[in-house]
Amino acid sequence: MRRPGVDAADTQDVRRFWERLGLPGLVDVHTHFMPERVLRKVWDYFDGLGELTGGVEWPITYRADEDERLALIRGFGVRAFTAMLYPHKAGMAEWLNSWAVDFARRTPDCLHTSTLFPEPGVETYVREAVEAGARVFKAHVQVGAYDPGDELLDTSWGLLAEAGIPVVIHCGSGPSPGKHTGPGPVAAVLARHPRLRLVLAHMGMPEYEDFLGLAERYDEVRLDTTMAFTDFSERLAPYPPGLLPRLADLGDRVLLGTDFPNIPYPYVHQLRSLERLGLGDDWLRAVCHENGARLFGIAPPPGGAGETG
Ligand SMILES: [Zn+2]
Repeated sequence: MRRPGVDAADTQDVRRFWERLGLPGLVDVHTHFMPERVLRKVWDYFDGLGELTGGVEWPITYRADEDERLALIRGFGVRAFTAMLYPHKAGMAEWLNSWAVDFARRTPDCLHTSTLFPEPGVETYVREAVEAGARVFKAHVQVGAYDPGDELLDTSWGLLAEAGIPVVIHCGSGPSPGKHTGPGPVAAVLARHPRLRLVLAHMGMPEYEDFLGLAERYDEVRLDTTMAFTDFSERLAPYPPGLLPRLADLGDRVLLGTDFPNIPYPYVHQLRSLERLGLGDDWLRAVCHENGARLFGIAPPPGGAGETG
């Protein structure tokens, strides 16, 4: 078992990052918690250099039991995080959602997360999830191998747009393309549902420019930083430096995401990768805490620690 990042020094490094910025902690919109046996299967998949990894070696840094993973992320000072779970086939989403209800109940700092799949009855369980208090949805176009524009999903997108519930969607063609990945299918969904709060995962890697363009065009579209800008991703799909001025301008709609615990490097590396973009401390404060806190209505900590001018 290789767990290079799981030590106290790692935790210290993360805390020093946000303390220097005067933040009360971090908001991470893209972390994976799911039923234990499903997560183990995901890890097996990464170990096996499957399609999801693009055939690249991917040692999971935070391979640990759920309790330990929760202790780690809280130790980092992540004030709110998500339980990104997703089905790879029909008949699975509802079961995942029922697990997520229970997980949210016993994990108050996790934003209650739900998922969906194009299948008969999807709008019923999406509505039930919304009524049960879901704060965010996850859609995985690559693993699910579906068209997000599938008409079976249309009512659900409408419902989520109306409820203003963000949907973190893996729709870029990284690390390897799927049948329906890329900007086209998502653009079609947004054309029909322009107020849908899509959070484009991984900055849309590797179609960075097209997805950035969608965020510029639609006010409710956001991007999450998950794995983008890291040494690991820069080797596979470097972020075009020419896009950085546009990324700076979009600073109120970029959200910290990390893919914890399924990352092949220590957590702090994601943060330092954002820092080295050179977009400044205000941009970092917005991305690492303020944008997520505003989107999800996360109250400042009691006592106002970390208030910045
Ligand atoms: Zn992810």
